[in-house]
Amino acid sequence: MRWDGQAVVAGDGGALPGLALSGLLRSGRTPDLAGGTFHQVAAKSAPNKGPEASTMPFRWTVNPMRGCLHACAYCYARPTHEYLDLDAGRDFETQIVVKTNVVEVLRAELARPSWRREHVALGTNTDPYQRPEGRYGLMPGIIDALASSGTPFSITTKGPLLRRDLPALVAAAQQVPLGIAVSLAVLDPALQQSVEPGTPLPRARLDLIRAVRDAGLPCGVFVAPVMPWLTDSEEHLGELLAALADAGATGATVLPMRLRGSVKPWFLRWLAQERPDLVARYRRLYGRGAYVPVEYQNWLWARVRPLLAAHGFGTGAERLVGDARLAMGERPEGGSYPAGSMPELAPGAGGGAATFEVDQPVLF
Ligand code: SF4
Repeated sequence: MRWDGQAVVAGDGGALPGLALSGLLRSGRTPDLAGGTFHQVAAKSAPNKGPEASTMPFRWTVNPMRGCLHACAYCYARPTHEYLDLDAGRDFETQIVVKTNVVEVLRAELARPSWRREHVALGTNTDPYQRPEGRYGLMPGIIDALASSGTPFSITTKGPLLRRDLPALVAAAQQVPLGIAVSLAVLDPALQQSVEPGTPLPRARLDLIRAVRDAGLPCGVFVAPVMPWLTDSEEHLGELLAALADAGATGATVLPMRLRGSVKPWFLRWLAQERPDLVARYRRLYGRGAYVPVEYQNWLWARVRPLLAAHGFGTGAERLVGDARLAMGERPEGGSYPAGSMPELAPGAGGGAATFEVDQPVLF
């Protein structure tokens, strides 16, 4: 069954009334991607350039889709749907914009003499290997366009569908510097299915890490976001890092959860349903800001650092992206550091004082 056979013209069936998408070609649903409406659009540009003031180590991105069926309650990219006059809640999870001509546009842009072959990051806004990629097949062309033009690139994903493209990625790695990262922050399947209801199970992502390593490619892991009182216990972090080490991950980057703009009420709504006992604590921790206070970051870093070392991810290193602190470790190295203890957070400690409005990748 081909996707085109399932599509309906814009304005029919699945399309939202009044939806005004630039370059909209058609909108429709498919039975095997239930719950999603797909808006095929003609992209005007790819890659896209981030703001000059961005603190991220890359300026260029390719995002073949907008919106994400993975539906993570904490997703940093949710507010980007508001630019489309869609909401950051259910619309983000169900109204998926697909740039069906992205490969052609990308090839044309990369062929320009002015293209300087800077690093291009995929997976910084929405997951390029979410399920519709199986139907549209945009990634093989994107990989080929980047590699054959001599453009270094990286992919971050939660999607085991990346395994389909491993031969192409192995070939690309012969041509350009290539980074692959899997996002896995929740090991408990019940919690994962609740907070990331559209994502593949943790076991499938561990298998993906193994497959990338078996193909001879390095594979980093984003242990992000770490959710206070839900996934930040020593037991959970230790178990997760042990599983990552066992799967052959070559690095681990740990980052506490950020709740920017309209993400915060959406996440707190989920929290009120699933863990009402934690709502008041979250309101205190995050206050009026988007990020956890520095006391929490220090505490988490002290907890994570020895765990990274214990599981072979080196002695760990700290890196600031804007004001947000990342804990990173690479294998193989050793080391041991004393763990810290959780600081007492006074009521209102979040208070808005630690509001970090920096660009961050979407860490799946
Ligand atoms: S965090 Fe990543 S995988 Fe989850 S919904 Fe957002 S873009 Fe998709």
